[in-house]
Amino acid sequence: MNGPDEAPVFSTRVAWTLSPDREPDAPSITHQLRCISEDEQGNACGSSGPRSSNARDAHAWAFLHAKDEPAHRTFYDMVEMPYSLSPAVEPDEDVKPSRIYPPEH
Ligand SMILES: [Zn+2]
Repeated sequence: MNGPDEAPVFSTRVAWTLSPDREPDAPSITHQLRCISEDEQGNACGSSGPRSSNARDAHAWAFLHAKDEPAHRTFYDMVEMPYSLSPAVEPDEDVKPSRIYPPEH
């Protein structure tokens, strides 16, 4: 244990896991379509629809865009998914891990 004037001690390596954040207060997964159709010179359109936590709502924009640009038929769905890092063992407050690394597979 460290006294109040001592610097934090450093532990050995600590395995941390990166995984999708499924906690109730985690941000929602969201979707947004971006048109990647190209003109004859190879320039991508780049127009994008609204971002939404409802994939169906986000995808509806493709149909609206195709009304203006019938030749634009390819899109990226730019999904944002929250992730969180967690240690295999929660370190003591005054012990900093000397190295944070992914677990062996
Ligand atoms: Zn387009």
